[in-house]
Amino acid sequence: LRAATSRETGPARSHGAAALLDNLQDVLPRAEFDVDAAVEAVRPICEDIARHGEQALTTYAERFDHVVPASFRVPVEALSTALAELDPELRRAFEVSIERRRAVSLAELGDGQVDVEVAPGARVSQRMIPVDRVGLYVPGGVAPLASTVIMNVVPAQIAGVGSLALASTPQQAFGGLPHPSILALCALLGVDEVYAVGGSQAVPMFAYGVPGLCPKVDMITGPGNIYTVAAKRLVKGLVGIDSEAGPTEIAILADDTAVPAFVAADLISQSEHDPAAASVLITDSEPLIAAVEDELKKQVATARHAERIETSLTGQQSGVVLVDDLEAGIAVADAYAAEHLEIQTRDAAAVSRKINNAGAIFLGSWSPVSLGDYSAGSTHVLPTAGCACHSSGLNVKSYLKAVHVIDYDQQALAEIADHVVTFAEAEDLPSHGRAISIRQDGDQ
Ligand code: NAD
Repeated sequence: LRAATSRETGPARSHGAAALLDNLQDVLPRAEFDVDAAVEAVRPICEDIARHGEQALTTYAERFDHVVPASFRVPVEALSTALAELDPELRRAFEVSIERRRAVSLAELGDGQVDVEVAPGARVSQRMIPVDRVGLYVPGGVAPLASTVIMNVVPAQIAGVGSLALASTPQQAFGGLPHPSILALCALLGVDEVYAVGGSQAVPMFAYGVPGLCPKVDMITGPGNIYTVAAKRLVKGLVGIDSEAGPTEIAILADDTAVPAFVAADLISQSEHDPAAASVLITDSEPLIAAVEDELKKQVATARHAERIETSLTGQQSGVVLVDDLEAGIAVADAYAAEHLEIQTRDAAAVSRKINNAGAIFLGSWSPVSLGDYSAGSTHVLPTAGCACHSSGLNVKSYLKAVHVIDYDQQALAEIADHVVTFAEAEDLPSHGRAISIRQDGDQ
């Protein structure tokens, strides 16, 4: 890991945490290749798929996925076969994850009741209406992320989305079908519209529709690599999207009470996702840095995907930030707005209450990010690249539209009429005022 220290930032040391914030952009490790750059790579792909549909899907399946499926729409029999052949132990792991994500999703749904009488006879209520049709993406380029099926499908179903389509990368090893564990989970969750299409093709397929293959959707959710995220950014507006959930990031805010072996294992676990993944340690303890570096050397050497992990850990998006004290560490973590923030300090819960920007927060030594990736009950589809300062992870509400219903009676409108007319005049929109005053004229 490359070490960047707050000491290098000069003014940060003399002006404390507030001044540190001004300098953080120089301190924080960030990727060189970002979503903006990837947008230019995927723009022609999106245009080609919009124009040429299935023919273009074939071109890009060959180019990026190195296999062209016999049919981009996965036959329903392939789903039931995958479920029938699923290893029982894996099936049980899937079921536990589904149960926990469902329990939390039901709580996210809440009762959603907004119904306010703002004055006598003047009522505003809110209906939460599910999006009609959603396209879900499940990454499969680097690793077949079956868990992402659960993270997309469960909250969408609990929100009441009527029509769900799901896409994942075709796999050479499985004759151009998505990975069997992904298909089995689709069968387990009752999703039968499944496509063998990779991310930067699936997004335009969903957004524009492909005649004879896939009807257009209203919204696209799910994570992916930088190209998948870039394609979502390009079609945003034409369809709704969830947050930009790109290459994974972990930031660990730790003090001298953290267990070096745990910290190292958690940094490595997220680096395993993608050579572009970011792993950042923020600490005020130099001995901890030394101990974590020793652990990293040991643990990376025996990791199955050592090369990918090493590329991620040594990339400029990963690093160590040495801070003067925990308060400065909190400021750094907040400015970084990590997708996953682990807090391994004394009284982690109290520290976490000072954090405003993070996709999800993992407290203490016994709540590692890997738990959240699979079975905690929380979502693992989370905003990356600083988007956690404005976006939420994928949850039931992501799939719901809030619609206000306004219901005033004649007397209630009369009571407020003058204020509305005055307001409309101030905006130089007199016809707005007329739509109110015409109702007060008494001759209707
Ligand atoms: P993927 O399935 O999104 O990518 C594979 C697809 O990328 C290909 O099918 C193709 O469509 C496209 N592609 C590849 N090279 C391209 C190129 N040169 N130009 C245009 N398009 C290209 O993802 P993956 O590669 O398997 O990686 C999964 C990613 O998802 C990782 O980065 C992981 O960290 C991330 N992830 C993020 C979250 C989150 O919530 N933020 C959750 C899970 C996974």
